[in-house]
Amino acid sequence: MNVLLTRRFRFSASHRYWVPAWSEEKNLQVFGPTTRDHGHNYTVFVTLSGPVDPVTGMVVNLSDVRRWVDPIIEELDHRRLDRDIPFFRDHLPTTENIARYLWDRIASLLPEGLQLAGVRVVEGEDLMASVGVAPFMDSARFSFERPLQPGVMMLGRRYRFSASHAMRVKEWDEEKNLQVYGKCSRPGGHGHDYILEVYIAGEVDPETGQLEDVRNLDQAVQRVLEMVDHRRLDQDVPYFRDRVASSENLLLFFYGELSKTLSHLAGLRLWETENNVVELWNR
Ligand SMILES: [Zn+2]
Ligand SMILES: [Zn+2]
Repeated sequence: MNVLLTRRFRFSASHRYWVPAWSEEKNLQVFGPTTRDHGHNYTVFVTLSGPVDPVTGMVVNLSDVRRWVDPIIEELDHRRLDRDIPFFRDHLPTTENIARYLWDRIASLLPEGLQLAGVRVVEGEDLMASVGVAPFMDSARFSFERPLQPGVMMLGRRYRFSASHAMRVKEWDEEKNLQVYGKCSRPGGHGHDYILEVYIAGEVDPETGQLEDVRNLDQAVQRVLEMVDHRRLDQDVPYFRDRVASSENLLLFFYGELSKTLSHLAGLRLWETENNVVELWNR
């Protein structure tokens, strides 16, 4: 039985998005402010899969992993990616292309019996691309490792909103609501700072290096978040007039709304608090 093992790496680098074959106007229209020089802190999660060695008790020695991967990361660290790294001279240094690049470099180094299960690149805090394993945004919140189809690329983006609700079934009396939902049923309501993670799967456009235009994604999600942000869910949002404003129903609401505009929606994860999370995936 194979075990998945993940090691985190970090680097910082700068870039800009610019397709030389396009006019300045088209570049500005597609990439907006990312046409200007700017930089990010990147976090890379490399997930390896293999059997546990009966003698060492390890899938792989982490010092070997560092010996293979550190030099590849070192090449990117404190560089201008689209000028200093040959691969990114003809592939835009998008999060998706960085993930693909690292996947190819690392996969070619691994010894027999050890498989590369996933490479996940997080740009800043709220944008990530992942090849091979379903993503999580950071290590502060617990995560779910979930192998995808080999080579499948996912893009994930994190959004925040705040809302209040009371968990109540309208047909029930006070006592029954209190019995089932406890203090969450208090009629005055209470609120949460929610985090919504939106995941898109599919093909990367070879010209833009993007799976989905992040600004389009933001627009699509903000349209939906506008319906719930800083609102009392069970009173102000029509969808919840005849449904309990639970995280599960909120997740289904987001899925229904986002599916209308995001054709490659792969999954959603909704954090009500850092102790409660619900998620759903297409596959
Ligand atoms: Zn950038
Ligand atoms: Zn609540």
